Amino acid sequence: MIVTTQKPIEFVNKCDCLVDYRELEKAILWYTKKPVTRLKTIYMHGRYPAVSIYKEKIHVHRLLMMFWKNRILSKEEQVHHKDENKLNALKSNLEIVFEGSHQSFHNKGKTLGKEHKRKIGMGNKNRKGIKMKKRVDIPLIELKSLIDRGHSINAIAKKYKCDWSTVRNRIHENPELLEVGE
Ligand SMILES: [Zn+2]
Repeated sequence: MIVTTQKPIEFVNKCDCLVDYRELEKAILWYTKKPVTRLKTIYMHGRYPAVSIYKEKIHVHRLLMMFWKNRILSKEEQVHHKDENKLNALKSNLEIVFEGSHQSFHNKGKTLGKEHKRKIGMGNKNRKGIKMKKRVDIPLIELKSLIDRGHSINAIAKKYKCDWSTVRNRIHENPELLEVGE
């Protein structure tokens, strides 16, 4: 829907959020589908910059990502700040990562010694309940159809007799699986 009565939005940036104001303006109008006040404040809400759209407080980085993807993100899809600066909401700094693997993105930069890595590997193998199951290749078309029908990662893992992390990784490697079809 085209908003015809919208005046250009001016932003009052109260938290040094690094953001493309024109993109943010477009994202806000995409999200509401109706005109909003001419003056918008960007403020800290929790740990991240946010804007208010009518009664809703929404984080700038999530709003922008939804606009760029043209869809609402699920709870499991988190928007990661590549440079770890929570104020940097520039497009080049943001990417979608899954809840389960998000933390590993933050550990990536930390260099672990060889011995430390080996110990972590051993620990993972020995940890109760984690069996090193063989890798199962789930055909993407089948996986897409299961996701579209609302199957959980656990349910899909059960069906293919594999670990849930195998399913999660497969989804992570193929983010288009979560895109809403026509
Ligand atoms: Zn992150």
